[in-house]
Order: sequence, then structure tokens, then C-alpha cells
Amino acid sequence: MSTDVSSDRAVRQAYEADSSGLQLIPDLVARPQTIDDVIELLKRAASDRTPVTSAGAQTSTTGASITDKGMLLSLRSLNQISDLDVKSKTVIVGPGAIVAEIKKAVAAAGLLFAPDPTSEEESTIGGAIACNASGARTFKYGATRKHVRALKVVMASGELVEFRRSDLEKNTVGYAFAHDPIDWFIGSEGTLGIIVEAELGLLPLPQRVVGLATLFREESEALQFVIASREATSVSPRCIEYFDERALEIARNSAPGAGIAQHAGAMVYVEEEINDDLDASLVRWLELIESIAPDFEPLVFDGEARLREARRIRHSIPATMNEKGGKHRGAGGRKVGTDWAVPYRKLGPAIQAARSFAAERGLEAPVIYGHAGNGHPHQNFIARDARELTTIEEVVEQTLRHVVSLGGTVAAEHGIGKIKRRWLPLQMNRLQISMMTAVKRELDPLGILAPGNIL
Ligand SMILES: Cc1cc2nc3c(=O)[nH]c(=O)nc-3n(C[C@H](O)[C@H](O)[C@H](O)COP(=O)(O)OP(=O)(O)OC[C@H]3O[C@@H](n4cnc5c(N)ncnc54)[C@H](O)[C@@H]3O)c2cc1C
Repeated sequence: MSTDVSSDRAVRQAYEADSSGLQLIPDLVARPQTIDDVIELLKRAASDRTPVTSAGAQTSTTGASITDKGMLLSLRSLNQISDLDVKSKTVIVGPGAIVAEIKKAVAAAGLLFAPDPTSEEESTIGGAIACNASGARTFKYGATRKHVRALKVVMASGELVEFRRSDLEKNTVGYAFAHDPIDWFIGSEGTLGIIVEAELGLLPLPQRVVGLATLFREESEALQFVIASREATSVSPRCIEYFDERALEIARNSAPGAGIAQHAGAMVYVEEEINDDLDASLVRWLELIESIAPDFEPLVFDGEARLREARRIRHSIPATMNEKGGKHRGAGGRKVGTDWAVPYRKLGPAIQAARSFAAERGLEAPVIYGHAGNGHPHQNFIARDARELTTIEEVVEQTLRHVVSLGGTVAAEHGIGKIKRRWLPLQMNRLQISMMTAVKRELDPLGILAPGNIL
């Protein structure tokens, strides 16, 4: 076998951490170069009953791509981007290809791969599919699932199976969850099979996009603007992102020249694709802004370089918080990030409740930012030690119970992994969990794939 399988401690340590703050050292690390290598590894793992946890770039925030049980399977080397077909708007990729590299390759042919996790510069398409990753523009384009046409999957037994999305527009055969088995693997966090190749669906690249960052004195005005942007018929944003006062502080520090006013208390960033006239679009947005709070001139991000700058500012928030959290690892602390979501009209009350739960326990206010257009903020806390971590986790659980009571979800974006597993029953009932367990047993009867993730 050509696969490099290592039990060397230094190699294993290189794969012991993801972005969750957890550390788990695998017994073995395998770095296959080809699909055949993966098949052979899985056949051997099935016969030895060796657990196998897949990993892409290990940017998971939930401990999903690390393990201390058996083998860590790094798919990074299967990174080809091939068969770009402009006519059918598809491309074939290996799981180790970096999302931003795929976007660059298809953009050169005038096409767009729409999913845009903030971590796209460093994360892999295998990880994005396995987590059904999403981002700011999911507001317009949907999450990764919608853009996956076919998958080649190495099953727990080592068998290679291709799943292709059905093109049917009508179907009444059997239960809906069995109609498109490809959907079982998207979002399955490595627990049902190893994705070794994907065919992605592409869209025409928009000709011009403009970004607008609107500053507000009060959070309530900003959240009112979020609802107005979503509901107005005069505008059609492709993303609606929110930054609270603490997130704005990080944004100002990371981009001192960007013009983020000192006395602003919140910001909403929107992007719109321009099909006709930029000025006409800006006028429509200005009318909407002025109907709510005309205190600040919006910052305009026009052109590729300016849009990249806006994206860099947005990325500086999770990146800064991850870095801060990492400094407290020695004392048992870390960053704690939430990715709950509620129906978008309930976002304001949900944020207020979440803040008050933290304040009641004497915690520093979390940094709140994210995909407000989908009712989906991120709350980031920094636990400075193990005691504070426990308090934060209790506050997060209290928040999640409240979020579920508002019709929300405990995890809208980053999956469940190992860290959020205990919160699955807050949202899913016994029947839903037992149906998932039945699928898992059927596809992975020995329970060797990604033990500890989700179930
Ligand atoms: C700063 C920062 C910002 C982030 N922003 C976002 C965001 O905006 N949106 C978002 O959705 N996520 C975000 N994330 C989370 C994370 O980046 C995404 O989930 C990403 O898609 C994971 O990709 P990865 O290559 O790092 O996968 P990994 O972390 O290596 O793996 C993630 C999961 O996928 C499984 N997996 C990986 N490859 C395969 C494969 N080939 N077959 C089967 N299973 C596989 C792993 O077992 C694991 O369960 C962010 C993370 C960070 C650190």
C-alpha cells in the first residue's frame, strides 16, 4: 500500500487540534494519496475494527476532526480540481481541495461556487460538505448541500459508492428521507462514509457586486434595518451581516483606516449584485437606511479589492476571538462560540435574552456578530480558565433552551461534532434521534466512523 500510516508521536501531535480548543491525539495518522488508498485503508480498518476519523484542514469548531480513538485519516492530498464544464456548470473536486482555490479556478471561467464559509481560505471542500458549511451569502444561495450534484463515498466496509442527486421534480415513491441518499452524507460529519470526490454545481459569476456597511447608534436600530433589508421589495441583498458594539471594536482595530466611526454602536453589512445601475441601487439602499437611522454615511465597498477588504474585516472577528481563546488553553479555558439561529424576526429578543443570561452569571458580554439575515448570530465568549468555561457552558445551555423555545436551532452552521453532542436532545426528539441511529447502524454497523461525532 502506498499510504503513509504513521504512529510517530510528532506526526500524531500535528493532527491533535482543530479550532475547538480541544486536543485529542490519534493512535495513528494515515495520509492517503489516492481513492484506492482510502478503499484499502477502510477495508483494513473494518477487518481490525479500527476507528477512523476523517480530517480536512481541521478548522472544525466542534472537535469533529480530531480523535483519540484509532486513526486520523487526512484527506488533504486528494486535492484535485478537474473537469470544469462551463456548459453544464459543474466541476469535479477531491475532498482536500481548498474551498477558495475551487472558487478561484471556476471564477477564471466566469463561474461561481456559491458557498462561502468565512474560513474558505483555509478549509477543504470535504469538510464543507461533511459539515454542510454555509456563510454570509447563504442568505441568497443556500448552504453547501444545494451545490453538491454527486459524491463518491468510501463506505465503512471499504466499498466505493457513487451517489448522484436526482433531477426529478416530482416523486411519490416511499419516504422522503430516502429519496436522495446523497443528502445523508452532506452534514454527516464523517460518521457515515468518507467523501473521496464531489461534483459541484456552479452559477454564473455576478458581473458586479457592491457592499454597504451601515453604522447605527443603537443595536435596536440595526436589527430593525436587518428586518427591513430582508422584507423590502426595493432591494435584494445577497447577505445581511450584523456586528454588535464589541465586534465593531475588533473590526476597528483590524482595519483602522476603514472609517468605522468611534461612536457607532452597531453595524449591518449587506451586499447586492448589480444587474443594471450602481447609482440606482445605492439610492434604493440610502432610502431604506434613512427610513431607520440617518446618522451615518454608509461605507461603500465597490470592486473586487474592496469586497476582499470587507471580507477580511469580517474574518478578523472569529480569527481574533480564536487567538484570544487559544491563550487560555493552559488554564483549561478556550473560546466558546455559539451558532444557534432563530426565525429572523425573533433575532432581537433572542440576542437580548442571551446577553442577559450571561450578565446574570457575571460574565463579560459576549462578542455578537454574524448572519442576521438568516436569524443566525455567533456569540463568542472567552473562558479564561476551567471554572469560567463551566459557567459559560451553563449559560450557553440556558440560551439554547430559550432559542429552541423560540423555534430555533442549537447549531445552524458548524455542526454538532463532539462539543455540542450533549445539546442534540434539546432540539431533536427521541424518534428523530433513533431514526438517525438506525441510519448510522445500517451504514456503519461496526461503529468505526468518527466515533463521538453527533450521536
Ligand atoms: C475562523 C473560522 C471561521 C469559520 N467560519 C465558518 C463559516 O462561516 N461557516 C461554516 O459553516 N463554518 C465555519 N467555520 C467552521 C469550519 O471552518 C467549517 O466547518 C469547514 O467547512 C470545515 O472544513 P475543514 O476542511 O477544516 O474540515 P475539518 O475540520 O477537517 O472536518 C470537519 C468535519 O468534516 C469531516 N470531514 C472532513 N473531510 C471529510 C471527508 N473527506 N469525508 C467525510 N468527512 C469529512 C470531519 O470528520 C469533521 O467531522 C469556521 C471556522 C473557523 C476556525
